[in-house]
Amino acid sequence: MTKSAVLILLGPPGAGKGTQARMLEEKFGLVQLSTGDLLRAAVAAGTEAGLAAKAVMEAGQLVSDEIVLAILKDRLAEPDTAKGVILDGFPRTEVQAAALDDLLAAQGSAIDAAISLEVDDAAMVERVAGRYTCGNCGEGYHDSFKQPAVAGVCDKCGSTEFKRRADDNAETVGARLEAYHAQTAPLISYYEGKGVLSRVDAMGEINRVAGDLAAVVVKATT
Ligand code: AMP
Repeated sequence: MTKSAVLILLGPPGAGKGTQARMLEEKFGLVQLSTGDLLRAAVAAGTEAGLAAKAVMEAGQLVSDEIVLAILKDRLAEPDTAKGVILDGFPRTEVQAAALDDLLAAQGSAIDAAISLEVDDAAMVERVAGRYTCGNCGEGYHDSFKQPAVAGVCDKCGSTEFKRRADDNAETVGARLEAYHAQTAPLISYYEGKGVLSRVDAMGEINRVAGDLAAVVVKATT
């Protein structure tokens, strides 16, 4: 693996981008960079960007490219990203994809792999509506698919605080899926055209999907 690997995970809400990005982070020593997490932190901190983004996120629509690109650039400027990054939830529009290409080119870097997590839309509402995370370490869980080994206690860090996202409800998921198909799915052909696209069947068991993804990452970065 090169020191500055740049990986992109594409897929609709519920495809498992966050879960898989965290697993890749551990396995390969990369840094997960989720624009959704950065935006939620901005909302919680009440920054100008957060105030502008809050209602848009609650409606399941995309935050403006300007805001997203500004927070992404700030995050990429932090030194830990030199280990290599897994972009989770970014880019989501062609404007963002082009801006990312320019940003990387200016650093003499480029995308190693854009991986599309392939899922059935119909299953995504149940996946998203049932999910929650540890309030301390961010480990992901699900009402039906992945409960902690000891009820109410995080497997990873032992915390008993859990949280659910405000936009993880059946109504908002519909809008988020629509936004994905209208604005983000075209990026699959964008990256196919650049010769960096791989597709992974993400309907199966979490560890099987992780194995398939790891194989793609190894191939793309060695
Ligand atoms: P996520 O955590 O990736 O599901 O993102 C949650 C919400 O944050 C999305 O529904 C959007 O409102 C917003 N968001 C996250 N990343 C982006 C992005 N790259 N471009 C625009 N909006 C984004």
